[in-house]
Amino acid sequence: MIPSILPTYNRAPLEFVKGEGSWLIEADGRRFLDLGAGIAVNALGHAHPALVQALTQQAQNLWHVSNLYRIPQQQALADRLVEASFADTVFFTNSGTESCELAVKMARKYWFEKDQPERVNIITFEGAFHGRSSAGIAAAGSEKMTKGFGPLLPGFVHLAWGDHDALAQAAARPDVAAILIEPVQGEGGIRPLPDQCLKGLRDLCDSHGILLILDEVQCGIGRTGKLFAHEWAGIEPDIMMIAKGIGGGFPLGAVLASETAAAGMTAGTHGSTYGGNPLACAVGCALLDQVTNPAFLAHVNRIAGLLQQKLAGLIAKHPDVFTELRGTGLMLGLKCKPANTDVVAAGYDAQLITVPAADNVIRLLPPLTLSEDEVDQAIARLDQAATALSQP
Ligand SMILES: *Cc1c(COP(=O)(O)O)cnc(C)c1O
Repeated sequence: MIPSILPTYNRAPLEFVKGEGSWLIEADGRRFLDLGAGIAVNALGHAHPALVQALTQQAQNLWHVSNLYRIPQQQALADRLVEASFADTVFFTNSGTESCELAVKMARKYWFEKDQPERVNIITFEGAFHGRSSAGIAAAGSEKMTKGFGPLLPGFVHLAWGDHDALAQAAARPDVAAILIEPVQGEGGIRPLPDQCLKGLRDLCDSHGILLILDEVQCGIGRTGKLFAHEWAGIEPDIMMIAKGIGGGFPLGAVLASETAAAGMTAGTHGSTYGGNPLACAVGCALLDQVTNPAFLAHVNRIAGLLQQKLAGLIAKHPDVFTELRGTGLMLGLKCKPANTDVVAAGYDAQLITVPAADNVIRLLPPLTLSEDEVDQAIARLDQAATALSQP
C-alpha cells in the first residue's frame, strides 16, 4: 500500500522535535550537530531569537494580505535587497523553483519586448539544479530529473561543465536569450565556478547582448562569506534567483533583476498568491539585518577558514574515506571513497547531520552562526564516522 506521504523521499529514521542554534534534538533528548541546515536554509541556525521575534510579532498583527494591496514588510525587504545588491527590482516567491520559473519567463519576455521573440533558448550546464518544476527539470536536463516527465519545456541548451568551445558557439546563436548558472553548484556536488569563469561568462553575455541569470538559491545569503557568491568575481548578473537562506526556514524566495532585464514584466504579466507575504518578509528583513552586518560575514569567513583547515587534516587522516575537499566559505563538500550515503549514515551514528550530493560527495552546509567549538565537534564526529567506516 502506498504510504500516506507520497514516497518521493528516502527518509532517514530520524525525527527531530526541536532545534537550537546548530543542534537538532530528538524526542529522547539525543542532540545532532546540524551541518545540513535544512539544505542551506537555516542560515542563522534553529530558533534564532531575532527570527522568532520577527515571526511571532508579525503573526500577532497580520498573516496574509493579497498582492492586490501594499505590503510594507515586502516593500522594506525589497528596498534592502536592492540596496545590498546589483538589483533595481525584486519579485518575491515562496521557493527556489518558483524563482526559476520567473527568471525563465523574465528572460524570454525581455527579448519578446525587444522584437526578437526568436530568442527563447537558455544555456544551462551539466550537474545543474534549478528545482523540480517543468521549467526547472528541463533547465537541468539530467535523466535522473526528467525521465518519464516529458514532453519537457523546450528552450534549453545543455552544455558540459567547462567546455569553453561549446559555450562560445552556443552563446553566439541568434536564438539564445540567456545563460543560467549556479556560481557554486550545490546538488551537482559542490562545484564552484572559478571567479575567472564567472567573469568570462559576464564578458560573453555582454559581447552577445544576452542576459546572465545566476541561481544563488543555495550559494547566496552569506554562505560563501559574501552576501552573494558572485561578488567574489566582481561581476553583476542581470537576473538572480534566491531562496533557501533568505527565509532562514520560513518559505521565501525572490528574483532580483536590473531595470533593463525586468523591462518586460509589467502589470498583469506575473503573480503569486503568497509571494512576499507579511510573515515571510518580516522574517526576511530580520535575517538580512543579521547577515548584512560586516561582523557577521567576518565571522562566516573566519569560521569557514577554520573548518576548511581542519577538514584538510581530517582528509589526511582518513584517505580511505575522504579524497577531496571542495567548495568555498561554508558551502563545502567532501568527496568520498565509500558510497556517500554510507558516510552520511555513519555521520548519523555519530550524531552528525550532513547531506549527500552528486559525484559521491557529502555536503557540509552548516548554519552560518557555527561556533569555533562546534567546528571542533564537527571534526570529532566526522572523525568518529570515518573511523567506524574504516573498521573491517
Ligand atoms: C534548492 C535549489 C533550488 C530549488 O529550490 P526549492 O526551494 O527547493 O524550490 C533551485 N536552485 C538551486 C541551486 C537549489 O539549490
